Amino acid sequence: MRAEVIAVGTELLLGQIVDTNSTWIAERLAVIGVDCTHQTRVGDNVARIVSVLEAALARADAVVVCGGLGPTQDDVTREAIAVVMGVELAPDAAALALVEQAFRARHHEMSPSNRRQADVPAGARLIDQRLGTAPGLICPVGERVIFALPGVPDEMKEMFERAVMPELRRRAGESGVIASRVLRTWGIAESRLGELVAPRLAALDGAGEGTPTIAFLARGLEGVQLRLTVKAASVDTARAALDREEVALRGLVGEHIFGVDDETMAARVAALLTVRRATLAVAESYTGGLLASSLVAVPGASAWFRGGLVAYASGVKRDLLGLAAGPVVSPAAAKAMAAGVCRLMGADVGLATTGVAGPDKQEELPAGTVFAGIAFPDQPPDAVGFNLFGDRQRVRELGTMNALDWLRRRLEADF
Ligand code: ATP
Ligand code: MG
Repeated sequence: MRAEVIAVGTELLLGQIVDTNSTWIAERLAVIGVDCTHQTRVGDNVARIVSVLEAALARADAVVVCGGLGPTQDDVTREAIAVVMGVELAPDAAALALVEQAFRARHHEMSPSNRRQADVPAGARLIDQRLGTAPGLICPVGERVIFALPGVPDEMKEMFERAVMPELRRRAGESGVIASRVLRTWGIAESRLGELVAPRLAALDGAGEGTPTIAFLARGLEGVQLRLTVKAASVDTARAALDREEVALRGLVGEHIFGVDDETMAARVAALLTVRRATLAVAESYTGGLLASSLVAVPGASAWFRGGLVAYASGVKRDLLGLAAGPVVSPAAAKAMAAGVCRLMGADVGLATTGVAGPDKQEELPAGTVFAGIAFPDQPPDAVGFNLFGDRQRVRELGTMNALDWLRRRLEADF
């Protein structure tokens, strides 16, 4: 089974947006063992889309097209597919019902141009849309097939998983299930993680169906991820294999794993606070609210999050948080801020950030010198320092993650 990916959109060619869709689709195709031999980007132009579709269909069994299903005049993927199929493009009652339903659910007025999204090449099947407004299409061309998906990444991914994956596997004559799980790490370099995991890689190498494969993905501010994928006869056997492998990997990687699948660092901190029935308050200097913002992103944060204070000026740190005279970028300052915000907001746990975001030095410290402070009940406050690399925004984002990660490790270990 061979497949190709075509990303449609003139903005992709102008360098205005990055084609992350093709990368994502390619990774998913690889997981189910479908060879992806070409990826093409093409502008919003019927004749050119037709020509790349025809070239792809001449080489591959399946073509996944994303983008150009929107309501505007430059969204012409449907037109091009109709040409390639050699059929009429006509308004479709079922598709129109789906589009109308999407607008009703959003309480938005449907404009006449949205009717275009209900045009369907004769013989195509609809993929109902759960997130966006345009249905996707499964378009048979002889023995081959074109899948047309929206360009918006979340909409595309949802449809791909739900409708394209099963159809591709059916066409490839595959039965059984493929399941995957992501273990998220922080605070460990990809190379070191590779060394820790090496025994498992060796054990799994060539073990075949029923045993997971392990892939490394360095995801920047999301950390380095381990993606386990297994092919098995049933959902239950797949899950059991993933469970076993997760236990083995946790034995090797230990506390560096902070979350599973979509679990964020803040969500993990939230879960730890919740089981301990503890509340948290934060005092931030150079992170300027990033810490509070990532905590509030967790649904239900009001159960454990007391609040945050952006104490930027030294005077505010002293007046509101009770810092003593002396440097404000130091372990002592981070400790005092954590303890101070606990008192101020009546929280059980306090977390604080102070540092030099850059680009200039401060108090003779180079940019990237940062400290985090933690205050736990009945313990003296504690602080840790990091030397971070990057521009101002990067230092602030890394510092936020590091502070949360340190709190997570401390909650797991001794509170
Ligand atoms: P919809 O069906 O939701 O109206 P569409 O099918 O018309 O969307 P486009 O108009 O091509 O999709 O793209 C919508 C947005 O999705 C783009 O502005 C861009 O932000 C994002 N997008 C489109 N193609 C890609 C791609 N290949 N990679 C990443 N993002 C993309
Ligand atoms: Mg568009």
